[in-house]
Amino acid sequence: MAKVNIGLRGWRFEESAVFTEEGEFKPLDEVPEEPRERLVRLTYLVEQPCDACYLIHGEGDVARCARAAIVYGEPGDELLLCNDHEADFLYWYREEGGKAHRGEPAFRDRFHEWFADGGRAPDGYEGLDHVDTDPEELPEPPTPEELHRRLNEGFEGQQIDLHERRDDEDADPADLDLGEVDLGTDYPSR
Ligand SMILES: [Zn+2]
Repeated sequence: MAKVNIGLRGWRFEESAVFTEEGEFKPLDEVPEEPRERLVRLTYLVEQPCDACYLIHGEGDVARCARAAIVYGEPGDELLLCNDHEADFLYWYREEGGKAHRGEPAFRDRFHEWFADGGRAPDGYEGLDHVDTDPEELPEPPTPEELHRRLNEGFEGQQIDLHERRDDEDADPADLDLGEVDLGTDYPSR
């Protein structure tokens, strides 16, 4: 069975778990819990800046940060990187002891510390071992409006608590604030 990236490279989804045979996103209540959590989280992450760019430019100049293209880590503890900074991450992971922190909640912070301390991959460091897919060509995760519509349409009072008023048929899709989704820590607050 095929594995696919959605929105960002990094998290891989079992195609049959999230797509129908027609290639449409499945209704969320038919998606198993773990990929569902990642899918909902992705709708937020695709809009976020690269962590490394953010460390360089900071809150005051977010506009100069590249949009994330790659996601590593678990929902709530993600490390987001643009194409240019992935090499720095891979160098840290492979050559600077990053791998030892794999799976730890502090994984992201360890990379941030190393990078903020001036850690960088040597010029020309490559070693990308994945097929380099342009994120522009990856399927987009459902938009917040789409998720909202499905929640109002499909759920019979259980499952995702994405919108606390999901039984309100008249709720305006614009009311959906993914910032309230409780899937983990807010980004990039640390
Ligand atoms: Zn970057």
